[in-house]
Amino acid sequence: MRIALTIAGSDPTGGAGLQADLRVFQALGVHGASVVTALTVQSSQRVHEVLPAFPSVVLNQLRVLVRDLAPHAVKVGMLATDDVARSVELGLEELERAGTGPAPLIVDPVLAASDGTPLLERRALGTLGRIIGRARLVTPNLSEAETLTGRDVSSDRGIEEAARELVGEFGAGAALVTGGHREGPPHDLLAVRDGDELTLRWLEGERIGGGPVHGTGCALSSAIAAQLAKGDGLLDAVGSARSFVAQALRAAKPAGSGARFLVLS
Ligand code: PLP
Repeated sequence: MRIALTIAGSDPTGGAGLQADLRVFQALGVHGASVVTALTVQSSQRVHEVLPAFPSVVLNQLRVLVRDLAPHAVKVGMLATDDVARSVELGLEELERAGTGPAPLIVDPVLAASDGTPLLERRALGTLGRIIGRARLVTPNLSEAETLTGRDVSSDRGIEEAARELVGEFGAGAALVTGGHREGPPHDLLAVRDGDELTLRWLEGERIGGGPVHGTGCALSSAIAAQLAKGDGLLDAVGSARSFVAQALRAAKPAGSGARFLVLS
């Protein structure tokens, strides 16, 4: 059985967060394990409250889980606080040391919800940066790339520099800067480290209209994790995950009174 693990926050609507990750894992045919980092109170319109999990319980969830199941890929999403992020960092170190095989790590550096509610406290940025340094791939959207690197990402050049920094200085194996929030065509930039070289690839995207959709970032990063868990290489995993999310966006439907939800197939 191929196993993907998500370390993420709960979204009671099921549209984003770990519930979305588990739906994606199931749709892509891998078993989904989950470690909860935070509860949120939210509707499809907005986030009302964030309640971080006890950091010790986050670490214990990870320790007990990975002593039993060996995940083939791990995704990190919302971390809420620095204390929770430090527990996750420690848990990932232990997972690596346990030598259960090289489970690739995908980090979706969740900073805020679409309504602007912070989902990570600012003082946790240093810890998040170190977690990114352990990642096979980090998947920021434009504003996350800007906050993490402090670069102006309003031009292609700026996006390329931010991606270079996430790989060259933070130490991620690769960075996928998603372009959904750009003016014009929503191309994504994939920067991959290859020995001492860095290869930049612009991946063409098509604007899929119809208004806001909840949880697209969560779904993209968990789809990549699922594909890696099944044994795909990074480029193939990114390619199939992008097609999977584009298809789910085309099929998106309203569920509540706010943003539409992805329909997975
Ligand atoms: N709630 C949780 C638990 C999340 O992890 C995320 C995004 O990662 C969101 C809400 C935000 O979803 P959206 O981007 O649709 O605002």
